Amino acid sequence: MFDNTEIGFKSKSNKSLKKSKNLFKLLSLSFLVKVGKFLLIISNKLKIPTNKIIKNLFFDQFCGGETIEECKDCINQLKKFNIGSILDYSVEGNINNAKNTKKEIINTINAAKKDNNLTFCVFKMSALTKFNSDKINLDLINDICQVAKDNLVPILIDAEESWIQDEIDIITENLMAKFNKETTIVFHTIQLYRKDRLDYLKKIHKIAKAKNYKIGLKLVRGAYMEKERNRAIKYGYESPIHNTKKDSDKDFNLALEYCINNINEIEIFLGTHNENSCILLTELMIKNNLKKNDSRIHFSQLLGMSDHISFNLSEKGYNVSKYVPFGPIKEMIPYLIRRAEENSSVKGQTTRELSLLNKELERRKRQSI
Ligand SMILES: Cc1cc2nc3c(=O)[nH]c(=O)nc-3n(C[C@H](O)[C@H](O)[C@H](O)COP(=O)(O)OP(=O)(O)OC[C@H]3O[C@@H](n4cnc5c(N)ncnc54)[C@H](O)[C@@H]3O)c2cc1C
Repeated sequence: MFDNTEIGFKSKSNKSLKKSKNLFKLLSLSFLVKVGKFLLIISNKLKIPTNKIIKNLFFDQFCGGETIEECKDCINQLKKFNIGSILDYSVEGNINNAKNTKKEIINTINAAKKDNNLTFCVFKMSALTKFNSDKINLDLINDICQVAKDNLVPILIDAEESWIQDEIDIITENLMAKFNKETTIVFHTIQLYRKDRLDYLKKIHKIAKAKNYKIGLKLVRGAYMEKERNRAIKYGYESPIHNTKKDSDKDFNLALEYCINNINEIEIFLGTHNENSCILLTELMIKNNLKKNDSRIHFSQLLGMSDHISFNLSEKGYNVSKYVPFGPIKEMIPYLIRRAEENSSVKGQTTRELSLLNKELERRKRQSI
């Protein structure tokens, strides 16, 4: 289903394919990623001007721009291929700037109100409030969801580390109860690498049913595995993360089946770069006589990753969007480091990106394109 690199990379010029190839080659060397991370942090602290290097090397691959305005080219490019964009203000860990972060997120909602191709908005609660303290600031979060509701723009709430996720869960459940009475505005995120999440998913579905509101669920495997395992060892508790990848995959598939079986009550947003997970969803849709463009089902990948999945799915008529991260280069460094680490640790994915890029470059060379 995803072998067609001509479709997968049709938005890319030869120059940008070569640039991506060089970047993924670098990212496949985990030693280099570790050294690069160290140098980046130091140069940032010493205020050494590195913006140009970062922009050329990483930023252009994984981010849409520094502002919403700058993301417009990227959004329009994706639009040409029927792929939606999800503007993601990805400035992480700067809680002192929460009011500005709220403003930026509301700007993404206003932009989405004017452009149907901006399919969802998204935010991380930890960018707006402290957790595990008595100073949880619900006002900013509530205001954002109110603006989303007033403008009928669905909004995804990212899932984070397990030690703050319990609080995020409670807040999100309340937001869904408040804003999802008629349509699904607030989407919760379920990380299926956690041992308890399949049961949790079923529990919140039952509550929503009983209280008569709709739920939207972003299904992901989960991004913080190493951090979770290390913390569990440090404090001597059982890791909340499945012991094996196979177990995470099993729960991911079961969650997907559960959501499809309850599609009249649950809207699905599938956030994955796993080909088999995407194929499974397309098969379940066929089995349940659901149209490819059923508005309750959405596929999504991150900008700069797994274009072969996004472009081939959209070509076949499925609803697809890319997360388009944006923000000032310096403040995007933590996001970029996470992308670099993910690509250097999820070995299979980097190898796959590289071999697809090579395949497409060779095809173009053969056909003198
Ligand atoms: C659009 C989108 C939105 C996302 N939003 C979020 C979010 O809100 N919160 C969040 O946490 N993540 C989020 N992610 C990241 C996601 O959780 C995964 O980290 C990432 O997508 C890799 O998983 P995969 O399904 O794409 O691919 P795969 O390569 O199939 O899976 C890799 C994942 O499997 C799990 N895994 C790997 N090895 C093991 C093991 N030994 N034991 C148990 N589990 C294992 C880990 O979760 C790992 O990240 C998002 C991803 C996308 C594409």
